Amino acid sequence: MEFDTIAAISTPMGEGAIAIVRLSGDEAVEIADKIFKSPTNKRLTEVATHTIHYGHLIDPKKNEVVEEVMLSLMRGPKTFTREDVVEINCHGGLVSVNRVLQLVLANGARLAEPGEFTKRAFLNGRIDLSQAEAVMDLIRAKTDRAMNVALGQMDGKLSRLIHSLRQALLETLAQVEVNIDYPEYDDVEEMTVPVLLEKCTWVRDEIKKLLQTSSQGKILREGLSTVILGRPNVGKSSLLNSLVHENKAIVTDIAGTTRDIIEEYVNVRGVPLRLVDTAGIRETEDIVERIGVERSREALKGADLILLVLNYGEELTPEDERLFETIQHMDFIVVVNKTDIPQKIDLTRVQELARNHRVVTTSLLKEEGVMELEEAIAALFFEGQIEAGDMTYVSNARHIALLHQAEATIEDALEAAEAGVPVDMVQIDVTRTWELLGEIVGDTVQESLINQLFSQFCLGK
Ligand code: GDP
Ligand code: ZN
Repeated sequence: MEFDTIAAISTPMGEGAIAIVRLSGDEAVEIADKIFKSPTNKRLTEVATHTIHYGHLIDPKKNEVVEEVMLSLMRGPKTFTREDVVEINCHGGLVSVNRVLQLVLANGARLAEPGEFTKRAFLNGRIDLSQAEAVMDLIRAKTDRAMNVALGQMDGKLSRLIHSLRQALLETLAQVEVNIDYPEYDDVEEMTVPVLLEKCTWVRDEIKKLLQTSSQGKILREGLSTVILGRPNVGKSSLLNSLVHENKAIVTDIAGTTRDIIEEYVNVRGVPLRLVDTAGIRETEDIVERIGVERSREALKGADLILLVLNYGEELTPEDERLFETIQHMDFIVVVNKTDIPQKIDLTRVQELARNHRVVTTSLLKEEGVMELEEAIAALFFEGQIEAGDMTYVSNARHIALLHQAEATIEDALEAAEAGVPVDMVQIDVTRTWELLGEIVGDTVQESLINQLFSQFCLGK
């Protein structure tokens, strides 16, 4: 394939110490050579591949030094895009990095579209579509664990599994072909159906397993949506603060001061939490507070985990009991806070209401019990679960949608085969499943989808 040379800033925008302007394409080396001057006057067109060079960028039109740089030169195909790649490391300031970019653009490169580097890697056969999407997830990954999922996907874990499923379907289709080509042999039909059933059942089960990982994959990527719930003044904001180790939520002595929902993103022992502090679910006359209450109900709907906070120094109120009712079908941990003041709460009753859920006691004032709470959260998440990295996770919405469709079509194929429908009819559903799985790795996708996908990437990747 023929490609022009593209360029973009490939480090995050802002005041980093170093920024990289990346070029990729047939002319990458020639363009860099036009503007680069090393102290020894060596030409970039003559240096060995995968080498780094110190020197200055010169604007050839004005014969003016633009920047002092380190320049890496990598000839294809052993590069990310499989094309010739030049990376110019310059000072991180916005002004200087932009000057470098303008210089390469003025000397023959074109500004890359969002995701175009990754798109080239895909089009040049360096990576498949699911790997390309993993690059995007990687850019957005918020915690180490989410990063591992993205990395696992990028080095082809998901792709390999999808390929083996497609291979099994292809073998089934081959068997069906034999059956269609030699209809006069009855035993071929007899052989075909059991093979078809066996292979399709395996494929369906694997798809099901993959889909089961999808909710956890999503959690790893977006964070476990965690709502801190409780009556006013029990210590919700204090809990948020101690989990965040920052003071972003406002803590006061006046009941009901958390007027708005506050969100924080924290990493508790590798479990990403998206923490939501609420104004408490309760009836209220106060309009301002009611906005908070209504939004709390909203937040509750989408919550993966509830932290219900109670006051150790007060008896349980009917309101507390109502809160237990509200969350009875959800995952929750009870936090009995303020153990530094004399006990009034009936802990036996609390455990009764909590049923099999964990009850943790804390004194946020004295910073006691937070470790235990963090352990309880991590245990809840990883109980009976295999850690990320050990298995293939699906966390990408497009993959999940395709897997659901594939599950449905393979299910149709199985039902038809079991009902004795002629195999050449069953073949249609098997083929469709094969195509749907192919779309995950990009084997059967149309150009427009590819363009749409890559346009979501950050510029410079
Ligand atoms: P919220 O209304 O549920 O968000 O409660 P806050 O976090 O705003 O806390 C209400 C009050 O309780 C504040 O004065 C906190 O300093 C205090 N508080 C929080 N945790 C503790 C604790 O463990 N012990 C004591 N004695 N006071 C606490
Ligand atoms: Zn509060």
